[in-house]
Parts: sequence; C-alpha cells; structure tokens
Amino acid sequence: MLVSAKEMLTKAKEGHYAVGQFNINNLEWTKAILLTAQELNSPVILGVSEGAGKYMCGYKTVVGMVNGMLEELNITVPVALHLDHGSYEGALKCIEAGFSSVMFDGSHYPIEENIEKTKALVALTTEKGLSLEAEVGSIGGEEDGVIGAGECADPNECKMIADLGVTMLAAGIGNIHGKYPANWPGLSFETLEVVQQKTGSMPLVLHGGTGIPEDMIKKAISLGVSKINVNTECQLSFAAATRKYIEEGKDQQGKGFDPRKLLAPGFEAIKATVKEKMELFGSVNKA
Ligand SMILES: [Zn+2]
Repeated sequence: MLVSAKEMLTKAKEGHYAVGQFNINNLEWTKAILLTAQELNSPVILGVSEGAGKYMCGYKTVVGMVNGMLEELNITVPVALHLDHGSYEGALKCIEAGFSSVMFDGSHYPIEENIEKTKALVALTTEKGLSLEAEVGSIGGEEDGVIGAGECADPNECKMIADLGVTMLAAGIGNIHGKYPANWPGLSFETLEVVQQKTGSMPLVLHGGTGIPEDMIKKAISLGVSKINVNTECQLSFAAATRKYIEEGKDQQGKGFDPRKLLAPGFEAIKATVKEKMELFGSVNKA
C-alpha cells in the first residue's frame, strides 16, 4: 500500500540520512526502482512529473500500475507516489487519482499567491493523510525548455511557507535540474543553514541530484536535507546501456529484438544507479 512521505522523512531527518525520490517514466523504470528499494530494504519515493504522467496515459494509469506492482512484486518497504513540480490543478488531479504525496511548485508565483495556494493544499492533504512538498525560490536548469541559473531561496519566505504546515520544503540553494555546467559554483551551504535554522525540524528537499559531488550531498544531508530527487541520472544510465546493446548488434542476434531482452540492460542500469544513490544517501536498511 502506498504511504505518505511524512513518516519516512521524519525518520530520515532524525537518523541523518535522506530518502531518494526517483522519477518514473514507464513500467521498466517503476519495476527497477521498486525492486531495488525492496532488495536494499530502503524507503523510496516514486516521482512523477506532469509530463511523465501524461506520457504514461494519465495519473490513474500510474496509480494502477504502481499499486499493481506493490502487490504482485510483494513490495513491503514504504513507498510514496509523489507528483513532482505539480501545478495547483495537477496536484488536485493526483490527489483524486490516488497519489500518496504531491508537490505544489508555486515558486514562480509572487510569494502571497504561493502562500494562498499552498495553504489550500495543506488543508486538503492533511485531511486525507497525504504529504505535501512546497517550493520556494526556483530551481535552475532546464525545465520545459527554459534554462535558468541555480537561484537561492529567501530564508524568510521559506519560513512563511514552512509555517503553513507543509510536510517538506524544497528551497533553491544553487541546485540545478539536469546536468551541471562545468563552471557551476556549487551548493550554497550558507543558504541551506539559514533556511534550516528558520524552519526548525522541517525536512528539506534537494532537487537536481544528478551530478552533485558526493561530498556536497553528504554535507547537505548533515545540514538537514532529508529527500533528494534523482531523475536525469537514471535516464543517462538507461540510455548508455541501451546504446551499448544496440551498438554491439545484440538486437540482431537470435531473439535480441524482443523488447524484454532489448530493454533489460537499461533496466539493470537503472537498478545499479538507484542502488548507488541509496547507498550514498544512507537509506539502505532504513525501511
Ligand atoms: Zn525538481
């Protein structure tokens, strides 16, 4: 059964580790992440962007697929199904479809409007026992074709949003979605420290986990980050393994064209990436 992310993040915060959010795109992705979490006895958050939700034929399809897998694969570790960077309307749709967690990304609204909309969603998610992630200060990188620099959130605005009663808070600390440029100045730990001081025990979320050096990840966790989002890295490892299979001509040998064979190396590559991240984040055996 899907669970809210609240309990797993409270435990992560207390235990000084982080739970990974791994975004899903299809059946292979979902199965790879769930099986790895189970094998490593780790809690996990499955992230679904609005675009990926559309690609997978809508939120109801996603909920049906994930719930089916939890049962058929005997997944017993805590699993949250979470909307990633949701609009207000998208969050409502996911709640209705059966997601156990949603993110409302109101970072592009003026702070007053972000507060108003977040407040309405706090009421709804609290009533239904779901978790809610809010965002302050936009996270850089490429999102829907727009490339932005990593911005730092205003710690006072973070406190205003945290005080509304959200479950977890994503604050921009110079992090970027996608690959990091060679001249990236790194995470702003100064911002992270002030945000955590202002927000008390609020679990903080680090978006753009692909390519942040391991020592920075560990330092961010030590300063209060309890959830780390990984998306691009699984895509890169899936693509590289699939490319290798085709370039070696394996799809032309025997029944190598069978999708169950063709997609297997990419599936294994996602599993390896998820394992590496869970070990780095410290969530192994924390289910
Ligand atoms: Zn993000």
